Amino acid sequence: MKMIIKACIIILLLIGLCFLGYYKYQEYQYRQSPKYKLLQKGYTEKQVQIILDKGTEKQIETIISLDYNPQIPQIMNHKDYKSDYFKRYLNYQGPKNIDDIILLVNQDIDQTSIPYSDDLLNIVKTPYFIKEKLSRYLDYKNKYPDLSYQEIIKRVNCGIDAKFYTNVKTADTNKGNLILINKYYQLDASYTPNDLQAIDDDNHYLTKEAALHFSQMINEASKVGYYYKVNSAYRSYSAQEEIYQEYKNNYGDTYAENYAAHPGHSEHQSGLAIDMVAQDPKGRDFEQTEEYTWLQEHAHEYGFIMRYTKENQYITGYNYESWHYRYVGVEAAKQIKQEGLSFEEYYHYYIEKGQ
Ligand SMILES: [Zn+2]
Repeated sequence: MKMIIKACIIILLLIGLCFLGYYKYQEYQYRQSPKYKLLQKGYTEKQVQIILDKGTEKQIETIISLDYNPQIPQIMNHKDYKSDYFKRYLNYQGPKNIDDIILLVNQDIDQTSIPYSDDLLNIVKTPYFIKEKLSRYLDYKNKYPDLSYQEIIKRVNCGIDAKFYTNVKTADTNKGNLILINKYYQLDASYTPNDLQAIDDDNHYLTKEAALHFSQMINEASKVGYYYKVNSAYRSYSAQEEIYQEYKNNYGDTYAENYAAHPGHSEHQSGLAIDMVAQDPKGRDFEQTEEYTWLQEHAHEYGFIMRYTKENQYITGYNYESWHYRYVGVEAAKQIKQEGLSFEEYYHYYIEKGQ
């Protein structure tokens, strides 16, 4: 009997030891786990959960090897966090704020040699910012510190940090209706649109698509009693050369520069531009007519925009022209109107940047 009791006690002890051993093993295992190590570093349960959920094995190892940094789980939990950029977020010696770190690194600003500054951050945050132009924005801000960031973005995007008729490039005819022709972009002397169509009996021509939309537009206007007279539409390079010389001879250099394009720099050569006024202005300037107001309200529905507005004279380099409309297509015209952009801003941000 005694033997049996002894045996039972030994067996129970053995079982107990097994449990203890197992427990100790479990504890040992736990101490080896990333969770335990992160908790030991000082991270809260919640922070640890984020790190384990978002981090790769290697990233978690890195975090364990570093000092406690409460920004790490915040960065990893950010809606715009990109796992591939993990190390770059940690290494970027820039802003203190998590949103700003994520924003700048996601834009690859940490990969440039441009040092972090408040100006840099504010520029990146401004609508219509184009990454490739960052150093030009900063140069311009240095030169004109009182200008708003918005204004700096606008001017640099449009290229007016260089003088008119400098840095001249060939206009990209592959852009079709969205071609940009201005004081920095020129057409070859030989360029003529291949689908010009007459829009009246007065030798005025537009490209096929522009002509179609123009006729729809004036047709619609006529239904409410508004009629227009076209003063100019397509003009050849040589015709523009004559006009420019004529303006120069008759009115002087300044006037010519403000109203007439150098040959090759006129939108009229693209067959997408039209100068139109009220057929019967009753002695008023075009701006004062109902025909003008109707165009202001409806031209975009037919793909036309007023090209040389009052507020953008310094961008376009032309004085305000209430009569000059440009066909850009319905979609672009609507967006330009909605966002209140000049065609230059639209082109450089949405068309050129997308390449
Ligand atoms: Zn014109």
